[in-house]
Parts: sequence; structure tokens; C-alpha cells
Amino acid sequence: MDYKIALIPGDGIGPEIVREAKKVLDKVCEKYGHSFSYSEVLLGGASIDVHGVPLTDEAIATAKSSDAVLMGSIGGDAKTSPWYKLEPSKRPEAGLLAIRKALNLFANLRPAYLYNELRKACPLRDEIIGDGFDMIIVRELTGGLYFGERQTIEENGVKKAIDTLSYNENEIRRIAIKAFEIARKRRNKVTSVDKANVLDSSRLWRKVVEEVAKDYPDVTLEHMLVDNCAMQLVRDPKQFDVILTENMFGDILSDEASMVTGSIGMLSSASLNETKFGLYEPSHGSAPDIAGQDKANPIATILSAAMMLRFSLDMDKEADAVEAAVQKVLTEGYRTGDIMSEGCKLVGTKEMGDLIAAAL
Ligand code: NAD
Repeated sequence: MDYKIALIPGDGIGPEIVREAKKVLDKVCEKYGHSFSYSEVLLGGASIDVHGVPLTDEAIATAKSSDAVLMGSIGGDAKTSPWYKLEPSKRPEAGLLAIRKALNLFANLRPAYLYNELRKACPLRDEIIGDGFDMIIVRELTGGLYFGERQTIEENGVKKAIDTLSYNENEIRRIAIKAFEIARKRRNKVTSVDKANVLDSSRLWRKVVEEVAKDYPDVTLEHMLVDNCAMQLVRDPKQFDVILTENMFGDILSDEASMVTGSIGMLSSASLNETKFGLYEPSHGSAPDIAGQDKANPIATILSAAMMLRFSLDMDKEADAVEAAVQKVLTEGYRTGDIMSEGCKLVGTKEMGDLIAAAL
């Protein structure tokens, strides 16, 4: 099969890690007889440098005409990069929010899986880890506080800032459906996280999620308050399968879940719309502190490419093969600096990509 993939290398370590993911995808094509044609798209700082804006209409059009988008990461060092002297709407991160909105990517999927080989990197005690954990956070991505109306005003000489948290029932229903569908392919459990004891938007969230649950009698639904969820993630992460939540809670909880796996360099993510189309990227940022030094861990991006094969291109066996290749290389003891431990073999970004492609 021939597919069109938009590649967004981005900033910092982005170009290095995307290059390794493409190497692995090339191997998938060779092995399984597919062909992918790539179009490179500028986003974030790389786009500001060329076009003066973090995202152009042309970039959106290229992404829209593709079957899927694979991205590295965007942004620079806020203290030193000239991009952060621009007004907020022209900075790299504004490009990311804008492309998510333009592509209607309302569902963000972030798996948090602990590889047995990386147990030592997990900050939790051994008895809490047990046989390991494997969860996925399904976060609503285009609504809530980050997209609500906001303003800063002055009342009687006192400055006041207002952000608005709003959700309508359609926005809640479509993300809930995604979470239940994903649960069906996993262990059939959804934990819906809200703050229904305080927020009206959460009370509506709970009501709509319960309505959706009626269509999935094979999936167990539980509700959890966000503060409790933050505790449970470090007290007993094994209890979770699919965590469904709104935008800001998901932003915070998915970072917490990623930390309990021990390394941000291992964590993939997908952002989907109502069709099969999606944007796939690692959960980490552009790591300007190690950019261009062959130190970045490319595994999160390679696993994001595996998610792309699974969710957008219906290539389950190819995705399984990429995940198995990552597992094999870890079992053989190869590590980038961020996941290095005693007795293992230290490799750089490029060698890690070569090893995974070879393991395929
Ligand atoms: P970061 O994730 O880039 O880095 C945090 C720490 O983790 C750093 O020490 C970095 O070296 C390390 N790290 C991250 N990815 C790694 C990898 N693959 N291999 C090895 N080590 C890795 O977060 P930050 O420093 O807060 O942000 C840097 C820039 O990235 C900022 O401009 C921020 O806005 C941007 N950012 C972009 C995205 C995105 O593109 N989706 C997400 C988060 C942050």
C-alpha cells in the first residue's frame, strides 16, 4: 500500500529523532512491501525562522492532504531563544495549538507502559510496581480551559485575569466514545477523571460519560476525582487501564504518569480526529539542552510511529513488529543516556535507531 506521511521534524532534538523513526518506517516498508511518500512540513521555531510565523496555511494544507502526520517536537529554550521575544501568539507553541485545532485533533492518547528492563528507572517502590503497569490516558485536546475565553482586566486599580472552562455535551461524547473503543481493545476498563464535586463542567462530563457507557456494557466504568487520581497514580498505578479526562487534568496527569515510567524519552503519543487521521509525536519536548549531540532517545518517536501504523494505517502486525524490535534492543541491554543503568551498553540516537531497524 502507498501512504502519504507528513513529517514535521520541528526544533531542538526533533530532526534527530524523526530521522531515526523514518529509518524504522523505511525498514517496515522494505519488510512488508508498503511504500510511504513523505512531505516535510515546518512547524514551530523552524517555521518562524523561514516564514516569520509558527504555522502557515501551506503547512496545514500539506498535513490535511496526508494520511497521517509524524512529528518530532517544537520549541526552544525560553530564556535564550529569540522565538520567545515574540508575542505569545507568534511563538513556537502557538503553532502546535493551531495545528491541533486546524486538524480537529480532539483526542490525545498517551500510553504509560513500564518496560521490565527499565524497572530501576521507575521512582516507585518494587512492591508498588509489582508485575508492572500498562495504562493509556485519553485526554480531550481542543476544549476546556486552554481554549476558553480569557482576558486580563483591571477593576478599581486591581489586575484580574479570567480563564473560562467550558465543554458541551458533543465534545464530551466524542472523546468518551474514543476511550471506550480503546478500552475494548485492551482490558475493558475506563476510569473517567473529573472534579464533579466542584465544577459544573465536570458534572456534565460525568452525566455524558455515563450515557456513552450504556453502549459498552462489556467495559467497566469508574469515576475518580482528579486529586484522588493524582494520588492513585503513585500509590497503585496497576489499577488503571484507560484514563479518560478533560484537557487540563489530562495535561497534568499524563506528565505524572510518564514520570512513573521512569523516562520521558520512552513515551509516545497520538492525537486523533473523528476519522483515522492522526498526528503522532513523542510526549517529551524539544530538549534544547541536548540538541545536535546524538544524545536524544529516539524510542518515544519510534513508538509514536508504531501508533501511527496501528491507528491511522491499520497495520497492526507492523506496529507489533516495531514494538517487539524496541523490546528486543532493550532486552539486549542497549540504552541511550536518559535510561542508562549499570551493566548496560550506552549508545547514541543514531545507533539506537540503527539497532531497532536491524531488530526488525
Ligand atoms: P523537554 O521534554 O524538552 O526536556 C525535559 C528534560 O528531559 C531535559 O533534560 C531533556 O534533555 C530531557 N529529554 C526530553 N526528551 C528526551 C529524549 N528524547 N531523550 C533524552 N532526554 C530527553 O521539556 P522542557 O525542557 O520543559 O521543554 C523544552 C522545549 O520543548 C520548550 O520550548 C517547550 O515548550 C517544548 N515542548 C514541546 C512539546 C511538543 O513539541 N509537543 C512538548 C513539551 C515541551
